[in-house]
Amino acid sequence: MDDVLQRIGVRRVINAVGPATRLGGIAPDIEVVEAMRSAVSYPVRIDELMSASGHHLARLLGVPAVYITAGAAAGLALGTAVAIARGDSGLADSLPRTEAPHGILIQAAHRDPYDRAVEVGGGRLVAVGYPEGTHLGELERSLTDDVVAVLHRPGRPGNGASLREVARVAHERGKLVLVDAAVHVPPADRLAALLDDGADLVAMSGGKAFGGPQASGLLCGAPELVSLVGRFHQDMDERATTWPLPSGDATPPRHGVGRIAKVGREQVAGLVVAVERYLEGRSTWLDRGRAELDIAEETLVRAGVPVRRERLHSLDVDILEVTARGDPDVFIHRLRDRAVPVFVGESEVWRGVLTLNPMGLLAGDGRMLAEAIVEVRG
Ligand SMILES: *Cc1c(COP(=O)(O)O)cnc(C)c1O
Repeated sequence: MDDVLQRIGVRRVINAVGPATRLGGIAPDIEVVEAMRSAVSYPVRIDELMSASGHHLARLLGVPAVYITAGAAAGLALGTAVAIARGDSGLADSLPRTEAPHGILIQAAHRDPYDRAVEVGGGRLVAVGYPEGTHLGELERSLTDDVVAVLHRPGRPGNGASLREVARVAHERGKLVLVDAAVHVPPADRLAALLDDGADLVAMSGGKAFGGPQASGLLCGAPELVSLVGRFHQDMDERATTWPLPSGDATPPRHGVGRIAKVGREQVAGLVVAVERYLEGRSTWLDRGRAELDIAEETLVRAGVPVRRERLHSLDVDILEVTARGDPDVFIHRLRDRAVPVFVGESEVWRGVLTLNPMGLLAGDGRMLAEAIVEVRG
């Protein structure tokens, strides 16, 4: 088979970071790739595809409604657009710059570089409180007329307001609650809990733990909101008289802000099969990665590099164990400069560890990863 990446001079790397976009994400199971291939063999109506895939996934996931997006970040942008414009075509056409209320509150401890997605969708993000925490009262008094929603990131440290509390005060004032669950769901049963706590729209990644296409995701929640998402995403506005999407007003909105994050048939089909496999416990990519991480652990320990299993499925390597002067940058650069470049997790360098994540490891990577670490150890 033609290996096009190799043919144009792109090197394969070892990914011990996990489902990182900068490394192309993880390798989906072959059945997911097959689904993507078969889905492109004939044209379909995109509105029908989005509606049918949404209904199918909603039934499987046991949630009211689902819309497939190009990722969790795209879901946040689309959710923001829905929160600002709802079913109003004039407002939809004014996005991303609008005079209408477009404030999105966020607890300071929940801030994240992915917040940019909210601004792409036309929102203006307003952080409330401090990194250590946000009092419910601080959030409550910030729910002014210019605010349309609160963005909540579950699982963040800090003494913040809970989702249930946030949803109560937001709903009392007619504001929505958007949840960024990109790294919180799966496990899939957390989804029902988020909706139960009052989340209106929840954005998830398809390319992370669901094992779907890298550029896929899900936005789920209340049917009356999810049914509006297509207005900002599908460019079916050629003639007002043949506009097929739900429209409460006389004229359809033009190509929406979400059009820059379109999804193709292949992403939809791949994500549907990935979620089916995940829910049936048939995903094999994670088992493959875990087996490789076990091999890496064995090889490292045998070579005298101690590792720790801090969290269930990843390994911590103490920086002082692999670099004489404790400088992680030199070590990381040496790993990257190898003939087969090796990438390890850097997000916890601040606490003196490099992390090895199994999700992106392919057959044979475990030993190569461990050998690379042993060889570049200073
Ligand atoms: C990965 C991530 C996203 C973006 O997810 P994509 O599916 O890659 O768009 C958003 N928020 C958080 C917290 C993430 O970790």
